[in-house]
Amino acid sequence: MARNHVKLHIPGPIEVSPDTFAAMCQPMIGHRGSGFQDLYAQMQPKLQQVLYTKNRVFLSTSSAWGVMEAAINNLVSKKVLNCCCGAFSDKWFDVSKRLGKNAEALKVEWGQPIMPEMVDAKLKTGEFDAVTLIHNETSTGLMNPIADIAAVVKKYPDVIFIVDTVSSMTGVKIEMDALGLDVMLASVQKAWALPPGFAVFGVSEKALKKAATVPNRGYYFDFLEFKANHDKNMTPSTPSIPHVYGLKHQLDKIFTEGLENRYARHLTMAKMMRDWAKANGFELFPKAGYESITLTCVKNNRNIDVAKFQKAIKDKHKILIDGGYGQIKGKSFRVGHMGDETSETIKEVLAALDDGLKSL
Ligand SMILES: *Cc1c(COP(=O)(O)O)cnc(C)c1O
Repeated sequence: MARNHVKLHIPGPIEVSPDTFAAMCQPMIGHRGSGFQDLYAQMQPKLQQVLYTKNRVFLSTSSAWGVMEAAINNLVSKKVLNCCCGAFSDKWFDVSKRLGKNAEALKVEWGQPIMPEMVDAKLKTGEFDAVTLIHNETSTGLMNPIADIAAVVKKYPDVIFIVDTVSSMTGVKIEMDALGLDVMLASVQKAWALPPGFAVFGVSEKALKKAATVPNRGYYFDFLEFKANHDKNMTPSTPSIPHVYGLKHQLDKIFTEGLENRYARHLTMAKMMRDWAKANGFELFPKAGYESITLTCVKNNRNIDVAKFQKAIKDKHKILIDGGYGQIKGKSFRVGHMGDETSETIKEVLAALDDGLKSL
């Protein structure tokens, strides 16, 4: 193939298409002028459709962690329940404590999902005013049962529900309003298929009201600054304008394809990858029934040399897969199949994986 760069099939950052790069390379415009305001206003209804929400959808020039930290800082006054089932969700608990908040971890083993009854048992105590959940735990390739968990959180109207959809937003249907999510956030280097450094997040009216009661929200990530500027079709500070152009381009592509077609494409790619794993004697790392749709975390039950496998694929095929995250490095490997990828490009990846296995 005529590719002279290593194509990323790690679960983020992912490959960015040439048409997206081209869209990002346009002359700069001032972020306080009508050109920018028009662009912002045009994108808003599309962003709301992608998040299935009537809430404001804000744009942050930061990676997801900026917004993840901000959500805790803006919305927790009593105590936050951090649901932990992998590296990113474990880290969110750590971040809550670093911010000086009263926090408790609801912990399950890596590969296991958070179950609604566990959340219910905690919220019943009345100790909590916020819950964090990672919808798609990228480190273990696990998708939590968000609809069932959301149904539980709805029983507690004073609790703010903060959901990380970093590696699932646009690849899987997540209906912010129907589920009652108060914050739904993602950075753009995963299923949005943009370069890293930017994030998209919806915030409910309930969360904005809550933020107004929480002191020390800072400036850069103050949700009320986002709201005040949003209502003038602007961001609080100078945004990454190339990212705004890129996001507009990706939104146009999403609506040309159609959201339902996009979800179906992602599911097809996930099935291809899972079938490959099973056909080659591998199991999947997450508990059956909770597998991610945007990436696959394969359990290394065959005990292959994952580092060697990964290197062979990279050297010969210029495709980079991931060799396992944190405590499951070498005990698993992960392949991303999201964004602009298609069944055709996934076929190429599977052929490279086959070849990599042969080289061991
Ligand atoms: C990648 C990822 C993050 C971290 O996002 P950054 O954009 O690097 O801050 C957080 N949560 C999940 C689930 C992720 O996959």
